[in-house]
Amino acid sequence: MALKSRKVAIVGTGLVGSSTAFSLITQGVCEEILMIDLNKERALGEAMDLNHCIEYLNRNTKVRAGSYEECGDVDIVVITAGAPPKPGQTRIDTLHLSAKIAESIVNPIMKSGFKGYFIIISNPVDMIAYHVYKLSGLPKSHIIGTGTSVDSARLKNFIGELLKVDPRCVQAYSMGEHGDSQMVPWSHVYVGGKPFLKVIEDNQDRVGDVNLNNLVLDTAKAGWEVYNRKGTTYYGIATAAVAIIKAIINDENRIMPVSTLLDGEYGEFNVFTGVPVVLNGTGVKEVVEIDMLPEELNKFKESNDFIRKCISELGYEI
Ligand code: NAD
Repeated sequence: MALKSRKVAIVGTGLVGSSTAFSLITQGVCEEILMIDLNKERALGEAMDLNHCIEYLNRNTKVRAGSYEECGDVDIVVITAGAPPKPGQTRIDTLHLSAKIAESIVNPIMKSGFKGYFIIISNPVDMIAYHVYKLSGLPKSHIIGTGTSVDSARLKNFIGELLKVDPRCVQAYSMGEHGDSQMVPWSHVYVGGKPFLKVIEDNQDRVGDVNLNNLVLDTAKAGWEVYNRKGTTYYGIATAAVAIIKAIINDENRIMPVSTLLDGEYGEFNVFTGVPVVLNGTGVKEVVEIDMLPEELNKFKESNDFIRKCISELGYEI
């Protein structure tokens, strides 16, 4: 009996898509990658270039240009086709164009017989993930937006720099929209097992007065700080996407923040939003509900209200 090879398709082979493929092959995550793009030459060129890495990597991942018709037996489709914001635009300004692009992708992929997992990177990611959920008809556990995964990594970097500790020793989530309205439940941020708020209280002489609101703003703005210098961001988000793919493919039961559909958790319905979840071979196994303080819960709900307002602009009754 032949073992089934694990296949990932990447739709949109621009900077984010090609970085995701590069991260997949360097980490040896799957056996096969299909590169799909409206610009077929671009997809082919990326596949060729990626194949030229194989000699010097740990395993032979087969990378090739592909098509939607070939997605029937693909395990995970990553959607990163989109319209990155032009200078002066916000992520929300790209909503309608990104929604149209998502339709042109999801409909033919579902016709191929695809039953796997969609990972959505295209912005505005929470709204596009909701759209893909509705278009695909797949169970909610199969649709995963990258959400605040990259924002949480940025938040941990800021806290790590402030306290001069490895950011991986920080446990922290940015939650809600992958955008300006995201929030941080500070009562659930820990450094080496100690509450962050207590760490800064006990170390005033070293860290001074820490402005928590500015830390949230810096986290939400961090992507734009990169954008202003190099025109876009891709390594951070590609690495976060690969962490999600590994959690599914390796059945890891990893807890990380992603955008998922809330159906009563946190008292919220009808919204894809950034929350910690358990990810495994069934996709989103469950949402982790942390006990937020009332003021934190209010900020989270405000962010979700904003996402719902944008979703309704796509014609959905919310
Ligand atoms: P890019 O312009 O480098 O690449 C986009 C690719 O999508 C291009 O190759 C283009 O040909 C392709 N494409 C466009 N329309 C298509 C369609 N209908 N079908 C198939 N392919 C199509 O852009 P990028 O920098 O890679 O960004 C891609 C998306 O990712 C944008 O929406 C961007 O906002 C988003 N993004 C999200 C995050 C996040 O944290 N979620 C971070 C960075 C970028």
